Amino acid sequence: MDVVTIGETMVLFTPKSSPLMRYAETYSRQFGGAETNFAIGLTRLGHQAGWISKVGNDEFGKSMLSFIRGEGVNVSQVEFDPTAPTGMYFKEVRSGNQVRVQYYRKGSAASQLQPSDLNEEYIAGAKYLHVTGITPALSESCYQTILRAISIAKENDVKVIFDPNLRRKLWSEDHSRKVLLEIAALSDIILPGLDEGTFLFNEEDPIKLGELFLKQGASLVVLKIGAKGAYYFTEEEYQLIPGFPVTNVVDPVGAGDGFAAGLISGLLEGLPLDQAVAKGNGVGAMVTMVPGDFEGLPDSEELKAFMEFTSSEDV
Ligand code: ATP
Repeated sequence: MDVVTIGETMVLFTPKSSPLMRYAETYSRQFGGAETNFAIGLTRLGHQAGWISKVGNDEFGKSMLSFIRGEGVNVSQVEFDPTAPTGMYFKEVRSGNQVRVQYYRKGSAASQLQPSDLNEEYIAGAKYLHVTGITPALSESCYQTILRAISIAKENDVKVIFDPNLRRKLWSEDHSRKVLLEIAALSDIILPGLDEGTFLFNEEDPIKLGELFLKQGASLVVLKIGAKGAYYFTEEEYQLIPGFPVTNVVDPVGAGDGFAAGLISGLLEGLPLDQAVAKGNGVGAMVTMVPGDFEGLPDSEELKAFMEFTSSEDV
């Protein structure tokens, strides 16, 4: 595997007959989870990605697994849990930039993940381990599982990518800040959004935030700033790589996961940092133009065409 990721994917219902859940009688059924959005992003760009998780031994779990397998993600480390259901959530897009989410995930199969579920060889064989700040919020055993996965990665020279993915509905501010900083300090690459950086360090200036994240010990920090693009920071330099203009944002959810897939794809291909971040910006922008968390993820040809077309438009 190029990259292995751990986390929960849920059944996602989106209102159909009315955009508002209060009035909708019919819903469309998709799947959504930050870690599999990222893994699918990588497979579409031609890389090998594996997913570690648990799903319920129910119809939702079965169709989800078939679907994600169908996207080319390795699911050999996903178990059916007969004791707990597959989690679900509802997403209401009120306007391009206003999204409301309602979870039904407490006690879900994925929240039962245990450190002993991890297959050491599987993680040790990857180039990167990807974790988010969502999984440790699901349960104490999920938190312990993430710490164990990171220590397996470190023992085997597998680089750790951390996307904080703050989910305020899942845990308290103090608890989330403590755990997210703990994981940041164990990571090689950190991918925060500007709002997450501000939450963690009480600082709004992106340059100061970059320095604060680097001080945690990472060798690369990439700070996402929405439509404006992203800054990268290393010990030697920092640079703002501008985003691609999008006039029709339909659904911004998943842009950060797509960005991570584009960036890591660039790093796997050995691109210089500015080009890898630009690739992340390209994927992130494309995700916002399509409804759904991962549907807008491009393959390499689509991404190349979008990036060339958008750049030539600018000239
Ligand atoms: P998410 O909502 O998925 O958690 P995030 O907060 O992690 O996202 P954002 O900064 O919103 O991250 O978006 C990630 C990247 O996607 C940006 O750095 C940018 O490259 C791209 N992107 C996001 N929104 C837009 C937009 N409106 N126009 C162009 N590019 C965008």
